[in-house]
Amino acid sequence: MPVGKVKKEDRWKMNKHRSSLILITGLPASGKSTIAHELEYRLFQQNVRAYVLDGDSVRKGLNKDLGFSASDRSENLRRAGEVSKLFIDAGIITIAAFASPYRSDRLKFRQLFNEGDFIEVYLKCDLTVCKSRDPKGLYRKASRREIQNFTGISDPYEAPDNPEIILETDKISVGEAVEQILIYLKKRGII
Ligand code: ADP
Repeated sequence: MPVGKVKKEDRWKMNKHRSSLILITGLPASGKSTIAHELEYRLFQQNVRAYVLDGDSVRKGLNKDLGFSASDRSENLRRAGEVSKLFIDAGIITIAAFASPYRSDRLKFRQLFNEGDFIEVYLKCDLTVCKSRDPKGLYRKASRREIQNFTGISDPYEAPDNPEIILETDKISVGEAVEQILIYLKKRGII
């Protein structure tokens, strides 16, 4: 627990909104990064302090020593969780876009936060749609076995049992998906 004189609740008052962690989980190409950045932009336009922690960028820096084995994925998410905790304490709505394929790792992530400060958003998208989008060409590489441990192909994705929000990104647009998250944040009194 931080020992500073300024508390999270003081920052909330100054910001005129609460902070919370939004974990966006789903298969590769289900739209995590796209939706996270659009949500950040929409919040920014409403004077809400929000920041995206993107799996890809965290892996290039903080977690560049980690690969894609189950234990490295677990450590990847653990570190992301600890960083997210600092952001939440700083009063920022933190949008964590991480494939986070294992249920047990997501549960540990959730347990770092107070109930109510954590929102799990599951992007439910058919694997065939993800494969056809393939914006980074990774499904193609994985099917040719040029990359190993690829979620959805050679590694499992364990869908959440009880996420706060489910968005069917093979049926709705990016705009509609973001709108649903904004409605949830308003309903819960976060913004
Ligand atoms: P991820 O971060 O889950 O790997 P990305 O956001 O990088 O996925 O890629 C998703 C791709 O699918 C993008 O090119 C995006 O423009 C496209 N896309 C098409 N429809 C949707 C939708 N409804 N929601 C999210 N992304 C969509």
